[in-house]
Amino acid sequence: ICPFDSINERSEIDEVKAAIADPNKIVIFQTAPAVRVGLGEEFGLDAGTFVEGKMVAALRKLGGDYILDTNFGADMTIMEEASELLERVINSDAVLPQFTSCCPAWVKFAETFYPEFLPNLSTAKSPIAMQAPTQKTYFAEKMGLDAKQIVAVAVTPCTAKKFEIRRDEMNSSAEYWDTPEMRDTDYCITTRELAKWLRAEEINFDDLEDSAFDPLMGEASGGGIIFGNTGGVMEAAMRAAYKMATGEDAPQTLIPFEAIRGMDGAREADVVIGDKTLHVAAVHGTGNLRKFIERMRAENIHYDFIEVMACRGGCIGGGGQPRVKLPMADKAREARIASLYTRDAEVTVKAACDNPDIQKLYAEFFDGKPMSHKAHHMLHTTFVNRSEDLGPNGACTPATCPTSV
Ligand code: SF4
Repeated sequence: ICPFDSINERSEIDEVKAAIADPNKIVIFQTAPAVRVGLGEEFGLDAGTFVEGKMVAALRKLGGDYILDTNFGADMTIMEEASELLERVINSDAVLPQFTSCCPAWVKFAETFYPEFLPNLSTAKSPIAMQAPTQKTYFAEKMGLDAKQIVAVAVTPCTAKKFEIRRDEMNSSAEYWDTPEMRDTDYCITTRELAKWLRAEEINFDDLEDSAFDPLMGEASGGGIIFGNTGGVMEAAMRAAYKMATGEDAPQTLIPFEAIRGMDGAREADVVIGDKTLHVAAVHGTGNLRKFIERMRAENIHYDFIEVMACRGGCIGGGGQPRVKLPMADKAREARIASLYTRDAEVTVKAACDNPDIQKLYAEFFDGKPMSHKAHHMLHTTFVNRSEDLGPNGACTPATCPTSV
């Protein structure tokens, strides 16, 4: 129980509805990987049912002008994060392990409890935080839209994203357009809030005809798809790093699935890329993380890359997803995880760097390559040491809560 009543949902649906009703606004929704395997449960479908088409149709019915896919943003995150990892591994002075930074609850946890690890955090922004400014710059320019009219709404499984979108650093589009009041993402609504909104509008989810994402930023690789699962970000990063370093597709056996997929609190593997062997790990849940870090320090274990997700199972188990009561909760999480892996198995493009829309974006907008000056400026971020926010004896306070806004 949070002593400060910070952990609750602060819905922004009324603000989004007002933007839809305003003829001078252009509402762009982006939908995170995990939403499409959770939303159906709110309408009586089995856990993990893949409802991407109905989800897109529902957002069109609610009045969204463009529906884009955060999975595309996940591919952008991997382009930057895998490039950063390869640079760190090659550079003998670089700080390792590289921790992922796409989970805002983990980032705030590190800023508060483990500030000594801030140099280890990848500076690559999260998928939502890369997708949003790119929508208000590249997408707006390609589509002939006035960026100042765009209202960017992220649909997420995550309550901590409501904090992340308000971080001072999330304003790259404001700098691009020299419009200080512009935010990269204007609003964030969760899977449960979207379901509530659909019920309030009396939209029959079952009757919706599947719809597809809008082009340019709506197609993703398998790596982007599995971002919602614990271990998915690490697997996606390894696929892309392998292709970037060797020029060849990552083999199926690159990472032994049995070693890194599943629900164990921490899993690890060795991944051979060219002449390097990377020791990698995926951890979910902050309790598991504390134990993992203690062991890493006590046994002086070297890791090159560590994925951390605050929620059990990764984003498919996020705080904004449909609630499932014990003892069925892990069964539901496993079904959602399996659904994203099934979708990954169905697509032909497995690595972010092979996504033709990603290649086009980098060629036309980000100066041809990841980590370019422009990409660094818009797609990377900084972190804040928040350890002084802790109360007496290290107690949590409203300022340290990972989900409070
Ligand atoms: Fe949000 Fe949980 Fe995913 Fe972290 S793991 S990004 S807190 S849903």
